[in-house]
Amino acid sequence: MALTPSRARRRATDGRKGRPVEPVASGPVGIADLLHAPSTNRTKTAALAFVAFFVVITAVAAAFGKVQGPVLEPFLPISASLWGAAELLTSYLLLTQFAVNGVRAFLVLGAAYAVTGLLTIPYLAYFPGLFLPAHISLGTEQVSALLWTAWHLTFPLLVGVYFVVDQRLTARIIDPSQIRGNVTLTVVLVLAGVLVIVGLVNFDRNALPQIVDHGRFTPLWHHVYSPAIIAVNALAALLVAVLARRPSRLHLWIAVALATSALDAVLNAFSSGRYTISWYVGKFETLTTASVVLAILLSEVGAMYRRLGTMAMLDSLTGLRNRRAFADYLRWVLRRRREGPSELSFLVLDVDFFKGFNDRYGHAAGDVALRRIANSIVDSLHRELDVAARFGGEEFVVLLPETGAVAAEHVAERIRRGVEQMGITHGASTVYSAVTVSIGVAYVDRSTMIDMTTLFGLADHALYRAKERRNCVVVVPYSPDDEKLRESIPRVLSAAE
Ligand code: GH3
Ligand code: MG
Ligand code: MG
Repeated sequence: MALTPSRARRRATDGRKGRPVEPVASGPVGIADLLHAPSTNRTKTAALAFVAFFVVITAVAAAFGKVQGPVLEPFLPISASLWGAAELLTSYLLLTQFAVNGVRAFLVLGAAYAVTGLLTIPYLAYFPGLFLPAHISLGTEQVSALLWTAWHLTFPLLVGVYFVVDQRLTARIIDPSQIRGNVTLTVVLVLAGVLVIVGLVNFDRNALPQIVDHGRFTPLWHHVYSPAIIAVNALAALLVAVLARRPSRLHLWIAVALATSALDAVLNAFSSGRYTISWYVGKFETLTTASVVLAILLSEVGAMYRRLGTMAMLDSLTGLRNRRAFADYLRWVLRRRREGPSELSFLVLDVDFFKGFNDRYGHAAGDVALRRIANSIVDSLHRELDVAARFGGEEFVVLLPETGAVAAEHVAERIRRGVEQMGITHGASTVYSAVTVSIGVAYVDRSTMIDMTTLFGLADHALYRAKERRNCVVVVPYSPDDEKLRESIPRVLSAAE
């Protein structure tokens, strides 16, 4: 099958013929940027709009607080399982981040999500008539309401207290050797905390104030508990979003989660019982609270995979494809040639007297020159299929699929002249006053198959001959029957892997 530009493009990492892209900065490990980089105005607007939307639906739902909706019994177990799973997943992702980068804020946030996620389990188990028939329920509505309270308080308290203590939530980085111990200790503390909370609400049910009485919230709930939950969540949201000098994306979306948690508590205060409109909307808000940070984390993980993919394929100095990406492309081209024979040309370029250039002008100037040479090479390539890469050091390679010897020599000459004409002064060169390249071109006709190692060897042989004069192009056609040529092809230059 013949190569088509669109097929080749699909193989290319940046969709264009090896054009240099911005070198990839190594950046922070994992997704720490999410916590450190100040959020953009767009994110701030999105977060504000999100909260505003929920304020509006809370106000509308509160107005219908006592209106009974349809009785959808599976709604609570399904939505609670979803928010519990979302919280535990969020916790896992945050703890994994801590394990990667040692930023303690991830550990604390992960712990906060773990507590809330785990509390969902007893909340559901104790909810009368939900999983167990009502007559053998483990607890009363009082226990469920207290668990709900604990879970709506622990999250803002953990986040809020840590934020106040640590000011910017980002400052502390743990020594890598202590990471494992910190995670283990946190998991133990989280489990112990959850057990203590469950034990407390159970131990002596009369010891804790009565907030539900015969299915109705008592005045204590309406006047103390409920306002306290709303205030703590709202305060924590403000702390995170407003007091952080330059809130990051993670700060903002945690603030959004806390704000929806506060709104959820508002609705709970207005709701007169299960299956009212406000009760349904409240549960939807709980689900939002649980999943908004998860959504952000997952999108960041996706972006990280894309970044890693790019980093693995590009040369960080020039932005050209690296050796590995080039080998992939070459392998693909060679396979296609076997399916549908075509001509092939392959160029190896080496900068002339580059050691002397570095010695005279410094390594930094050498790097700049290499970047300019890379750009010049790409500017000399006019077809989608033509792909350039940095092979290593001051050597570059260019693959010209479906290209005959005359055309390849023409392209090579254009590259050579392009570099020469940039006029990068090179006082240490004995062949020219500016930086130049020598180019070896290997050409293979359509009926001859060739493997990667032989192709590299042939081009290297051509380069070796070009180096006899320097600043020139030498084309060597492959002829498998030519014993002398075969013997002179070096085998040392192993194929790109
Ligand atoms: P020739 O004309 O025979 O190719 O001579 P040369 O000096 O270019 O050849 P040699 O292989 O001896 O030297 C290559 C030099 O390229 C060595 C090193 O100083 C330089 N070099 C390799 N990689 C880099 C790089 O990433 N940055 C810089 N600035 N210089 C590099
Ligand atoms: Mg060299
Ligand atoms: Mg050189």
